[in-house]
Amino acid sequence: MSQQAMQQVLIMGGGSSGWMTAAVLAKHLQGTGISVTLVESAQIGTIGVGESTVPPFVQLLHHLNIPLADFMKQTQSTFKLGIDFVNWQGPEHSYFHPFGAVGINLNHHEFFQCWLRQQQAQPGPAYEAYSPCWHMAQQQRFFLPSDAPDTPIASADFALHVDASRVAGYFKDYACRLGVCALTGDVCEVNTHASGALASLQLQDGRVLTADFFIDCSGFASRLLGQACDSQFEHWNQWLPCDRAWAMATAAPSDLPNYTQAIAEQAGWRWRIPLQQRLGQGHVFASGFVDEEQALDTLLSAAAQRGEELLNAPRLLRFQTGMRKQLWRHNCVGIGLAGGFIEPLESTALHLVVRGALFLLRYFPHSSHNTADRALTDMAILAQEYNRAMTRDYEEIRDFIILHYCLSRRDDSDFWRYCGAMPLPDSLSEKLALYRLRGIRRHTGDDLFGDSSWHAVCAGMGELPVACDPLVHSLAGEQVEQALERYHQQLSQAVPRLPSHSEFLQRFCWHAD
Ligand SMILES: Cc1cc2nc3c(=O)[nH]c(=O)nc-3n(C[C@H](O)[C@H](O)[C@H](O)COP(=O)(O)OP(=O)(O)OC[C@H]3O[C@@H](n4cnc5c(N)ncnc54)[C@H](O)[C@@H]3O)c2cc1C
Repeated sequence: MSQQAMQQVLIMGGGSSGWMTAAVLAKHLQGTGISVTLVESAQIGTIGVGESTVPPFVQLLHHLNIPLADFMKQTQSTFKLGIDFVNWQGPEHSYFHPFGAVGINLNHHEFFQCWLRQQQAQPGPAYEAYSPCWHMAQQQRFFLPSDAPDTPIASADFALHVDASRVAGYFKDYACRLGVCALTGDVCEVNTHASGALASLQLQDGRVLTADFFIDCSGFASRLLGQACDSQFEHWNQWLPCDRAWAMATAAPSDLPNYTQAIAEQAGWRWRIPLQQRLGQGHVFASGFVDEEQALDTLLSAAAQRGEELLNAPRLLRFQTGMRKQLWRHNCVGIGLAGGFIEPLESTALHLVVRGALFLLRYFPHSSHNTADRALTDMAILAQEYNRAMTRDYEEIRDFIILHYCLSRRDDSDFWRYCGAMPLPDSLSEKLALYRLRGIRRHTGDDLFGDSSWHAVCAGMGELPVACDPLVHSLAGEQVEQALERYHQQLSQAVPRLPSHSEFLQRFCWHAD
C-alpha cells in the first residue's frame, strides 16, 4: 500500500507560539523535504504579553543552538531565579518558589525530609533558605550555575524574563534562516475535506494556501482547531476563577530584581516582571468578584505608591482558563493560546508551547492524511498519543496552580473565601492527601513541577505534612542539624561573592537602547 509523504506544513499565527513552533520544526525537519510555511496577519495583533518563563525555556535555546547572551541581548531579557509570592496568606506574608535544587540529600535521605525532621525538633530557617536561587534573589546577585562547578551555586537553575514582542521576532529570524516561508495575510475562510480534515486556508487577498498538516497558533480565536475542527473547550474556571488581566509597563528600576513577583490582591494577584528597559506589571483578576475599573485602580494605585512612571496605557485582556478537549483533531494541532490557557501565575504558557512543538515532532505524521485509509488510521493513533501527553501536561500544571489558591487561608474577600471552599479536581485532592501524609509527591514521570516545587509552595503556605518519612529517623538528630547548618552557611558565604544581577547583565548581554 503506498502512502503519500507529508510535504507541506502550514502554521497559522505569528505570535510567540507560531514562531517558536516554526523554529523547532525548522531545525528538525531540515533535509526531510517537508516545507514549513507560516501565515500571520498584519491587522490582527499578537497578545503582547508572556514575559516570564521557566527553566526549560533556556533548555530550548540550547537545543536550538541559540547563544544565550545573543538571545538575551536581542530580547532585552533579565535572569529569573524563581517567584516571590507576597500576601498569599495575608498581609506581611511572603514566600519564594525557587528554581533548581533546594538543599542536598543526606545519606540518600531527601533533603526536605531532613529539614522537616529538624523543623519538628526545633524550627529554623525556612525551606527556601536552603536554595542557592533564594540566596541569589535575596541579594540580587547572579552567576551562571554552569560556570560555578563544585560550588553550591552549581545546583541553581534559572529562566528568563523576556520582552514578548521581541521573542516572536527572534524566533522568526531563526526559523526563516532555516527555510521557513513567512507570509502575511488574513485568513478569512477555512476549506475542509469531506472527512472534516482541513484542506486549505483562503486569504482575504484571494490567495489559497493548501497543506497536508495545519498548526493553529491563531491565539484565543482558535480559528482552525476550535472553529474549523470543532474541538470543544473544557473550562476550568470553577477552580481558577481569574479571567481578566490589566497589563502595562513602567520604567525599569535602577536595581533589577532577578525574580518575578506575584502579589495577592482582593480578587486575584499582580505581577511585576523586570526587563532590561522596563518593568512589566499587570493585575490578573476574577471578574466575578471585582469589576474591571476597581482592578485597574488596584494596579495603578500600587504603581503610584511606589512613584513608578507609566510607559504606556494599561491594556485589558480577557481570557478563559481551560483547554481544547482534543489538541490534535483531524490534520490540525493547536499550540499556544489556540490550544488552551492556564492563568500565568507560574509562567507556564510558553513552556506548553515548547512541549506542544516537541511532542508534535515525536508523533509527527510523516504520511499525508488524505491518500489512503491506512494513513488516516496512523494519524489517529499519533493524535491520540499526542493528546494524551499534552493533556497530562496541562492537567499537571493546572493542579499545581490551583494548589496556590486552595492552600490560602485568607478570608478577607469573597474571592479568597471561594478559593478556600471550592471543591478540587479529584487528581489534586488525591495528590494533596498523599502529600499531607508525609510530604510525598505523586510520581507521574516528567512533571514540570517536581518535589522541590511542591515543597516550596506547600511549606511557603504553611502546609506541612503530618509527619516526616520515618526512615529519616535512622539519622542522628545532631547529624541532621549540623548538616543543615553547614549547607546554609556555605550558601551564605558563597553568594555575597557573586556579581550583582545588574553587573552581570551589563557584562553578559546588555542591550544598549
Ligand atoms: C494576562 C496574560 C499574561 C501572560 N503571562 C505569561 C507569562 O508570564 N509567561 C508565559 O509563558 N506566558 C504568558 N502568557 C501567555 C502568552 O502570552 C502566550 O502563550 C504567548 O504569547 C503565545 O500566544 P500565541 O502566539 O498563542 O497567540 P497570539 O500572540 O495571540 O498570536 C496569534 C497570532 O495569530 C494571528 N492571527 C489571528 N487571526 C488571524 C487570521 N484570521 N489570519 C491570519 N493571522 C491571524 C495573529 O496575527 C497573531 O500573529 C500570558 C497570557 C496572558 C493573557
